[in-house]
Amino acid sequence: MVSYKELGLVNTREMFKRAINGGYAIPAFNFNNMEQLQAIIKASSELKSPVILQVSNGARNYANPTLLRYLAQGAVAYAKECGCENPEVVLHLDHGNSFELCKSCIDLGFSSVMIDGSALPYEENIALTKKVVEYAHQFDVTVEGELGVLAGVEDEVASEESHYTKPEEVIDFTQKTGVDSLAISIGTSHGAYKFKPEQCTRDPKTGKLVPPPLAFDVLDAIMEQLPGFPIVLHGSSSVPQEYVDMINEYGGKLPDAVGIPEEQLRKASKSAVCKINIDSDSRLAFTAAVRKTLAEKPGEFDPRKYCGPARDLMEELYKHKIVDVLGSDNKLAK
Ligand SMILES: [Zn+2]
Repeated sequence: MVSYKELGLVNTREMFKRAINGGYAIPAFNFNNMEQLQAIIKASSELKSPVILQVSNGARNYANPTLLRYLAQGAVAYAKECGCENPEVVLHLDHGNSFELCKSCIDLGFSSVMIDGSALPYEENIALTKKVVEYAHQFDVTVEGELGVLAGVEDEVASEESHYTKPEEVIDFTQKTGVDSLAISIGTSHGAYKFKPEQCTRDPKTGKLVPPPLAFDVLDAIMEQLPGFPIVLHGSSSVPQEYVDMINEYGGKLPDAVGIPEEQLRKASKSAVCKINIDSDSRLAFTAAVRKTLAEKPGEFDPRKYCGPARDLMEELYKHKIVDVLGSDNKLAK
């Protein structure tokens, strides 16, 4: 058993409290390789933002669970080297689908876990979530639960359609389970194809898809039921068209990829939404930079020469998200 505290990590409790009161949200960036981690830590440390390093089960297996723990430990040390005296770094399991997986992460030094029972019948979701909370809280690890279903595909999580969270269930669910935060469904979606073209309108000037707006009325109704309770948004990449265009220009094929407009995420950040998950945007930035570099320099075969530009582009993306979308810059406790 390794405690996250020994690794210099923190749980989400205090940072969420401050985020709700301060009208901003904490970035939860997924990572599975060194370049992503470097870019996340450099961006968040230089901007003095708390940060959630988020790992799916697929990413954990890709990186190797043991190596991943040392990467997280190294991330704290690297944050200090980047000039952040007291970094606030969370290591969080994204979409835990069983008690055993959550336990294994907690035992290996995660400071926060998500147990996603949203696909289960309501009572089973409560029972599973409660079991994880009871285990996690013994070690002061925070737990995110989920109510409602997001559409889209992300690693091992996939659903055809979305079902909004029912505001009438949230009090009962949070009280019975004891979760520290709640992921909700208000129209965000996993992956780089968040909406089908028939769900969108098209901008007559650019021909690009314009996605349907988020259900802020559902968010408002949830906040009315749970005043001051930390709310989480999954599937909140914006799928920047500049990256999609770059990928398509240099041999890729991502027709009609579309995400959540950043103004809507900015608006959500000012409410009780205190954690916003961003994964696809960094994948797109990485791929765009790699494609461009390899297309322009076909003789290049040193991975540092194309992963380096990918890292730089991701860092720029993370900084933009922190400052212009989430507003979490200069929000460290000390
Ligand atoms: Zn998710």
